[in-house]
Amino acid sequence: MSRIAYVNGQYVPHDQAAVHIEDRGYQFADGVYEVCEVTGGRMVDERRHMARLVRSLGEIRIAMPMSLAALGVVLRETIRRNRVHDGFVYLQVTRGVARRDHYFPDPSTPPSIVVTARAADPRKADAQALQGIAVITTPDNRWGRVDIKTVGLLPNVLAKQAAKEAGAREAWFVDAEGRVTEGGSTNAWIVTQDGKLVTRQADNAILRGITRTVMMEVAEKLQLRVEERAFTVPEALAAKEAFVTSATNFAMPVVRIDGKPVGEGRPGPVARALREHFHETAEIAG
Ligand code: PMP
Repeated sequence: MSRIAYVNGQYVPHDQAAVHIEDRGYQFADGVYEVCEVTGGRMVDERRHMARLVRSLGEIRIAMPMSLAALGVVLRETIRRNRVHDGFVYLQVTRGVARRDHYFPDPSTPPSIVVTARAADPRKADAQALQGIAVITTPDNRWGRVDIKTVGLLPNVLAKQAAKEAGAREAWFVDAEGRVTEGGSTNAWIVTQDGKLVTRQADNAILRGITRTVMMEVAEKLQLRVEERAFTVPEALAAKEAFVTSATNFAMPVVRIDGKPVGEGRPGPVARALREHFHETAEIAG
């Protein structure tokens, strides 16, 4: 089956889908995006992802390209046309096409919008979760507003590639004070020896992950305590468990950091429980 993409008002074959060379997303990374899980053909946490999109666009002063209701229709139609049962839907909005110039283009310039969807086998991620993943650490060299979900992901790309070349799956960014901010495409968590969940407070130094937010609710239901504060790499190594969260990973155990084992070096019960209960708490759209 051929894939279909939505580009600026049209559904087009994926291999012919294109934006203009002077799209500001291409030239300046002047745009934002969202990735939403699809399960059983339905979007997970659409409401929260759309709220974050609205916030990201507002922070960089790009107008919503269409109403949320219309966007919901496009997302569903893209999922449907690609026959995605389990997988992800990707949405990107940029400041549009204009002659290359740093200043914002004329306000009449329409934002560009692209939506794609692809299938992913959830059993693969489940198999990975039984093994856990390794992470490396790297200095956080990103800009000061990573709370905005912009397509400017070069530091994340370089960090994740370094992780891959080191035989790891994720890179944890570490700030100038030696505290973990987040992963290249995930939020970072530990479980302390006294059973508390710790994840960094959602300020400008991290993206407030939708999965992070939902996991806090899952933790509450499981009667686990959550502390929002920064932690260091030595603290993570001395923890009972570590894990990362994202729409593509749910809760994924971290068993090694820079080659050293976390706790007993095996996935632990807290990450497993959070993973198992995630979809009971996430909002699954119609
Ligand atoms: N941090 C970063 C840098 C990310 O790219 C992502 C995934 N987009 C996350 C955290 C996790 O966010 P979410 O749970 O909304 O997928």
